[in-house]
Parts: sequence; structure tokens; C-alpha cells
Amino acid sequence: MNMSNNKKITRLLIANRGEIAVRIMQSAQKIGIHCIALYSDADQNAMHVKQADEAWYIGASPAKDSYLVVETVLQVAKDAQADAIHPGYGFLSENAGFAQAIQDAGIIWVGPPVSAIEAMGSKSESKALMEKAKVPLVPGYHGDNQDEMFLAEQVKKIGFPVLIKASAGGGGKGMRVVESEDEIMAAIKASKREGLNSFGDDKLLAEKYITRPRHIEIQVFMDQNGNGVYLFERDCSIQRRHQKVVEEAPAPQFSEQERQAMGEAALQAAKAINYEGAGTVEFLYDNGTFYFMEMNTRLQVEHPVTEMITGQDLVVWQIKVAQGESLPLTQDQLHIHGHAMEVRIYAEDPDNDFLPTTGTLDHLQLPKLIQGRVRLDTGVQQGDEVSPYYDPMISKLIVWGEDRAQCLSTLKQALQTYQIAGVTTNLSFLRRVVNVDAFAQGDVSTQFIEEFDQQLLKQSAIPLHHLVAAVCQHMFNLESIGKKRRASDDYTNPWHGLSSLRLNQASKHTLRFNTKSDETLDVDVTLCNGHNNQTQASPLIELQIAFNGDHHTVKTRKHDNQVQYEINGQWRSARVIEHNNILWIYDNHGESQLSYVQSDFNQHTEQAGSLTAPMNGTIIQIDSSPGQVVKAGDVLMIMEAMKMEHAIKAPMDGTIKEICFNIGDLVNESAMLIEMDEA
Ligand code: ADP
Repeated sequence: MNMSNNKKITRLLIANRGEIAVRIMQSAQKIGIHCIALYSDADQNAMHVKQADEAWYIGASPAKDSYLVVETVLQVAKDAQADAIHPGYGFLSENAGFAQAIQDAGIIWVGPPVSAIEAMGSKSESKALMEKAKVPLVPGYHGDNQDEMFLAEQVKKIGFPVLIKASAGGGGKGMRVVESEDEIMAAIKASKREGLNSFGDDKLLAEKYITRPRHIEIQVFMDQNGNGVYLFERDCSIQRRHQKVVEEAPAPQFSEQERQAMGEAALQAAKAINYEGAGTVEFLYDNGTFYFMEMNTRLQVEHPVTEMITGQDLVVWQIKVAQGESLPLTQDQLHIHGHAMEVRIYAEDPDNDFLPTTGTLDHLQLPKLIQGRVRLDTGVQQGDEVSPYYDPMISKLIVWGEDRAQCLSTLKQALQTYQIAGVTTNLSFLRRVVNVDAFAQGDVSTQFIEEFDQQLLKQSAIPLHHLVAAVCQHMFNLESIGKKRRASDDYTNPWHGLSSLRLNQASKHTLRFNTKSDETLDVDVTLCNGHNNQTQASPLIELQIAFNGDHHTVKTRKHDNQVQYEINGQWRSARVIEHNNILWIYDNHGESQLSYVQSDFNQHTEQAGSLTAPMNGTIIQIDSSPGQVVKAGDVLMIMEAMKMEHAIKAPMDGTIKEICFNIGDLVNESAMLIEMDEA
């Protein structure tokens, strides 16, 4: 932190993007600080740019060409006359060189001293430091000897299972669990490789793998005068791929004595490195015993749950400390009030190993936000693109209740009304997580998702009423396409539009849908003209729907973007969004997703041969190479989107010039995949 005490911050540069940039701005602007944002090509229209007082362009979309370029960010800080920089989390937040360069330029760093970042930057060295400060550690080896045979000996000494970690690792990368002697060497080599590739450092440590721990971390804060407090704990045990998805404070089933013991140990850790500002000390907790894991020298993603239970604004605290002020409250003045939970909404596919997804947020309906009770931190709005360049987190939903039970029911309610279409997200998965009985009982561990995977990962069969809603909406969509094509016609019969699509030749049609679990659903739909009671604004249509051998008579109409339908004597309504043949169905019973398989009676939008991506997806196979001579219709590449494969075929005879992507790459809709010269 800047040594010049009590210097007021008036112009704050936020060296970050997305939800955390927006969140920092909200607090800074509230206390009269002018906020300066940064943006890359992909972020020109981003929310953090719109909400800033001014914004500076820093380069191309990949973070390594913009948000991670120390010289560029520093130069903007100087040119924009920023007197302070807040790094947020991720990007440059734990880059000691950046923190040093800023302070050398006379700019306040809203973060801890460079020496503290350095001390905690390596898991091995931080463990050595904590050992000295008498903070309890997971038993293991964290020394300098990196000889593979020596490391293997250490692993055996610790006793199986053992966790091998890249010392410079983060985000769950570079970790391997070793269960037996024959796995040791392969794990050492793999972690070294991952450490080197991801962090430029192949140093490893090994520790006892605790089989069913909880992840409990302590929020600490220190000012420049050496005063420190802990703002209690957060339980972040619910993780996938060693990354957090649900966090809460206070930790369930946790005693006051444990809270105090861990709080004091965390503060001891912070004091041992002359810490300043906000920091988090992470522990593994195993049946009343706790072990230091690492300290994160920045604001954490999950800091809002701490804010909700303490009533404090941690970003304001950070700014005050950076200005040289004392901590706003002493330990005695801090109290836990109620209970808070946070869920992270990611653009990812839980049914596909949580791989990130991309796309356009065609439809966003937020839960009802209530001051102090339901909060949503986000950096995107409807219509925004989730690009492959940055972290796939869309938002954080944070709720508060007087006690854990009330908090949980508020969370369930909020999750139920949160709708996102256009991008596959983990929303349904999160709804399932918070409905697991063990979660309600606070019986959590880092193994939670594995333990309950049967309940969490399988999308159950699509409810009949969701399928009916999809059919009705799909018919309305076809009708409006038909109408547009026949704009000059003025038909009062709503299905006239469809006849232009040759839909009513037999008045009976088969629609084919695929579920996310690759089940094919064929639905026979018969149109019965619905002249009765119809007005042009919301015609009432009657359909006969046959599915799985059962026949249903359905009446349907559109109302306020909702499709309303009557089946078995009951009217229901749903919101169905259709984009690129994917249908998202939402109603107050939940969410379903279906993909519509084009059939002959519909006009093909699928290109016979186009070299651009038909939708957001992943390249899974490449069947051509530069220089190759191909014939029109040859399959050149296969991409996968929404669990369906799409063949990219040559539109003409010619020669391949360039293949623009590799296997495994995420591509955006309409990205050029292959360049080719016509014969
Ligand atoms: P990263 O810096 O990559 O996030 P951490 O060291 O913070 O890695 O660990 C991330 C997660 O991995 C923890 O929250 C915990 O779930 C698991 N983990 C780490 N160390 C151990 C261990 N010794 N035993 C069991 N689980 C562990």
C-alpha cells in the first residue's frame, strides 16, 4: 500500500472487467470517487464500461493482449491521471510486479503490500511461513528439493491418499490425487507439466489428501497501522473441479469456539506477513481440526456473503485502508447478523463436465431484487455476448435471511424465477443443489457434488407440460415466420401463415425434438382451426398432440410474451424462448431445454455448405487440411453445439486455404471456420 498516509482517492482506475468492475464502481461512486474503466475489443459495450465515469481502450479481446498487459494498464493510469488502482480479483490482482510498478509511479495500490503478495504467491513458501507463525498445516512436503525420485519418496512417507499440487497453482489447476504407489510418477509429471504450462513454474508440493473436508475460509482485514480484525468465516465446500459454486456465511454446524480459533489463526497469518487491506485465509476443516491451505491477497469473489451478515461494504473498507485510515470497526464491534448464501451462475454445461459455453444472452429475467435480502452482482445484460475470452461467470446471486432456513427458502425462490436463455448455464444444476436434503441440513463437504451426482447431474425426463409449451410456442413461431413471408396478406386465420410453409397439407405434422440427454421425442401435431373466440391479437388455437401413444387436446394462445395453454382442463403458462433451434422453457415449476430437429416440411436454415459456424459450439473433429482439394459437399470439419454434431461441408469445389481453429476450440456463431479458394 502507498506509504503516504491519508491521501484521498479521487480518481480510481479499475483494472478489471465484468461483475467485479461494476461492483467496485458501485461502492466507489457512492462515496464520490470518479471511476475509470478499461475495455478490450470484446467489451466495448460492456456494462462496466457504460457505468464508469470514463473508459479507456486497452487492446484486443484476449486478456493477454489487454487486461493482462502491465505496461498498457499502467500507461492508461498515468494518462487518465488515476490516483489509485483497484485490481479486483483475477487478472493482475496478485501480480507483485504490477503492484510495485504502480506504487513506483506514485499511484495508490488498493491491495496489500508487495511483500505480502510475494510471500503468499507460492503455496510452498506460504506454507513454510505459516509453519513458522505456528498456523496448523496439512501434513506434507513443501520444500525446495524438486527431484522426482525424492518427491515420490515424500509422497509415500505422507501415506495415501496424497494430493500433489503445483505450488504456483490456482483455480484448481495442477492438482492430482494419488491413491497408490504406481500412480505417483505419472501424477508428478502431469502436475509439473500443468504447472509449467499454466503458471510458468513446475514447483510442486505434496500433502495428505483429506477425503471429506469442508472448505472454510476467514475474511481478514488490516490497516496500515497493524490493526487487524476477522470478519468471520465463509463455507465454500460446494465445489466442482475444485472450484467454488455455492458459498455461505456463517458456516453451518460451526461453533463459536471454532469460529474464534480459526479467526485468530487467520489474523495471526496476516500479521506474520505485515498484511494490509482485505485478505482471505483458506482452511480445510475436518471434524473440528483445521489446516491452513493458502492465503488470497485480494478481494474474493464470494465477499458479498460476508457483507450481508456484517452489514459492511468491504470495497469501501479497502478504499479507506488504502487512504491510510484506520479500520472502520474493531473486533468487538463486529457481529454476525442472520445468514447469507451466494450461488455463482456460470455459462457452463453441468451435463458436459462443466465445460464453459458461449453465446448471446437472448433472454434474461432476473429474480426480484430486494435491498438487503436479494442481491445480484453481474456485469452483463440481455443481448450481451458471453465470449470465450474471459471467465464464464454470468452473475452471483446473493441472498440473506434471518436464519439459514429462511435464507435457503429465499434462495430457492430467487433461483426459481431467474431465467436465462441463449446460453447454457448451470442454473438448473444450482436449483438441484439447493434442493438436496443434505444441503438443507448443512451437511456439506468438498465431495458434495460427487456424492450427489445422481441427483444433480441427470436432467430428469422432460415434463409433458413443458413439451406441450414448446410445441405451442414452436407453432406460433412458424406462424409468424409464415406471416413475415406473406406480409401483404391480411389473413385472420392465424394458421394461414403456416400454410405457406406447406404445414397444413395433411393438417398433421411430426415435430422432432432432442432432449439434453440425447433422447429423441417425436410429437404428432394436428391443427384444428381455432376460429372460435379469436381476435387477431391473441387467437385461440386448438391442437391435437400425440406423444408416446397418448393423445391430448390442447388450446393455446399468446399473452404478454408467454404461451398459455390448456391441457387436461387446466390452463398453464410458460415462457419459451427459441433461438437457433434451441428451446428454453420456463414456468414456475422449473426449466427445460429441447433442441428442435429440422424436418422436411420446414424451410432449411441449415446451409448446404457454409464455412461459418451455424451457432456457438466446440470444434470436435477436423477432416481437411490446408492445400487439400475438395469437392462441394465434402465434410471438412465437425462441430458440436448443444450436444448435437454439425458437419461443416464444402460449399463448392476448391482448395482449402486455412483451417481457422483447432480441435477443442470454442467458436462463436458465424465465426469463419475455414478459408477456401474456389476451383
Ligand atoms: P487453488 O489455489 O487452485 O484454488 P487450493 O489449494 O485453494 O487450490 O485448493 C482448492 C480446493 O482443492 C480446496 O478448496 C479443496 O476442496 C481442495 N483441496 C486442496 N487441498 C486439499 C487437501 N490437502 N485435501 C483435500 N482437498 C484439498
